[in-house]
Amino acid sequence: MKAHIVTLPGDGVGPEVTAAAVAVLKTVAARYEHEFTFDEQLIGGAAIDATGAPLPAESLAACQSADAVLLGAVGGPKWSDPNSPVRPEQGLLALRAALGVYANLRPLQVHPALADLSPLKNEKLENVDVLFVRELTGGAYFGAKTRTADTATDECKYTVAEVERVVRRAFELARGRRHHVTSVDKANVLETSRLWRSTVQRVATDYPDVKVEHQLVDSMAMLLLTQPNRYDVVVTENLFGDILTDEAAALAGSLGLLPSASLGEGKAGLYEPIHGSAPDIAGHGVANPVGAILSAAMLLRHSLGLEAEAVAVETAVDQVLRHGPHTRDIGGSAGTAAVCDAVLAAIDEHA
Ligand code: ATP
Ligand code: MG
Repeated sequence: MKAHIVTLPGDGVGPEVTAAAVAVLKTVAARYEHEFTFDEQLIGGAAIDATGAPLPAESLAACQSADAVLLGAVGGPKWSDPNSPVRPEQGLLALRAALGVYANLRPLQVHPALADLSPLKNEKLENVDVLFVRELTGGAYFGAKTRTADTATDECKYTVAEVERVVRRAFELARGRRHHVTSVDKANVLETSRLWRSTVQRVATDYPDVKVEHQLVDSMAMLLLTQPNRYDVVVTENLFGDILTDEAAALAGSLGLLPSASLGEGKAGLYEPIHGSAPDIAGHGVANPVGAILSAAMLLRHSLGLEAEAVAVETAVDQVLRHGPHTRDIGGSAGTAAVCDAVLAAIDEHA
């Protein structure tokens, strides 16, 4: 098949891990006889330096006409002044909104070869297989903000339609997994959470084959650490999802391992590792490329419908995590390129 992919390497380790993910997609294209074209565009601090804007019009237009977008990371100390009117993160928020990618999928597994790295020494870890579905384009991150000298407000607003579309996505995904949805809210305190919960209860009647559970976000924060293997699909609003998925990432042993997909109504999606620009290691060629490479696998699956190719990439990553080489964050000494080459070789073997 033919596919046009826009890459947004961004800042810090973004370009290093994006290069690895692109190499993987090129190998997949060669092995399976697909024709992928790539178009690199600016976002974040790199875009501010070059054009003054964190999401130049040309980048956005390219993303809007692509089959999928692969992003590295945005931000870094050079652009970190919170009082500056232009900040790298604005580019990413604007891109998510413009693409309408309201559902952010973040799968979490704890690889058996890396269980020692997890802060939990818990026999339940080996069965951890959770898919977080975070609402990505509403709530407090997008509400009206006000500020006077001594008062600040962030409006948190959700419509039934906004809740329903992401919750339906979660139920659909649960049908392809273990038929269990956990909805996380703060319905004992927040009105938006009461709307969220009643919407989940109504949507659930369309999915009688899926078991539904409601948790308050504070208890969920605890349960994720004490019983992580109890969960299948976890769906929640933007702010709670941001916090819970970073907590969950710690279970896997390194932020550098985890991928994400952000999806809207169409097939086009936005794919990025969940880690940030990692300024402390940027430029040294030591960043773990696994999160970016697994994001490329999600791209193959969700935007291009290439399930066998996605599985081939995931199988190759599994082999490399099992046998090495490993980057420093997971206890090895290999660089980004060596890990990427090992994944490419494993794809060639599997195909
Ligand atoms: P940002 O502001 O862009 O989110 P950050 O300072 O929060 O950046 P993160 O990227 O979130 O940094 O990383 C937090 C820690 O995890 C850092 O110590 C970083 O080196 C490490 N880390 C993140 N990504 C990777 C990776 N791909 N490989 C290895 N270590 C990583
Ligand atoms: Mg960060």
